[in-house]
Amino acid sequence: MLQIKKLDIKWNGTLKPLDKNKIDAIALHHMAHPSADAYEIDKWHKANGWAGIGYGFWIDKKGNIYEGRGFNQNAAVADHNGHIISIGFQGDYENVDKEMPVLQYNAGVDLIRWIMKQIPSIKVVHGHKYWNNTACPGKYFPLEKMIADALKKEEKKTWKQILQEVASDPKGWEIAINSLVLASESGMMNSIYKYLPLLLEKIYNR
Ligand SMILES: [Zn+2]
Repeated sequence: MLQIKKLDIKWNGTLKPLDKNKIDAIALHHMAHPSADAYEIDKWHKANGWAGIGYGFWIDKKGNIYEGRGFNQNAAVADHNGHIISIGFQGDYENVDKEMPVLQYNAGVDLIRWIMKQIPSIKVVHGHKYWNNTACPGKYFPLEKMIADALKKEEKKTWKQILQEVASDPKGWEIAINSLVLASESGMMNSIYKYLPLLLEKIYNR
């Protein structure tokens, strides 16, 4: 399950909600700074005279996802903030960080997928440099790979593949058995044979 944390910040003024039908893109950014956290970015952007952190969402190197402006108008891609949701990534992927931590990478993939589920009208996912003259998100940012992974269609697994995954994962059994117990307690046992494949598929495809 995707966890999105709230930042403990105060906006200067009111954020402008975006018309979700007009959102057609996601832009990925780095911070051009190896360690600045979301609170520092918020300070920098307030120093610009902005309402606060300009990104819609923000991911640190440990893979924590924070909500910035969310689906309100972002301030991160000049001239395009009326139709783009921006994701900021902690780190300097142009000069300092040569490899993205796996947790941050996975959080990026998950968040892109999640946003695209919220806003099906999104057609483009790209780096900031696609819209503006900038190096952002940096030459070491795993841009193509992250986008490809996020857009990859989840393959439909066969019932056999799902069972094999369950069998090879002790936690999988735990979840499956807990689900069965829950089903029996709520009187769903008669239909459980029908729904078990669906249930396990849900568990394994997130
Ligand atoms: Zn950028």
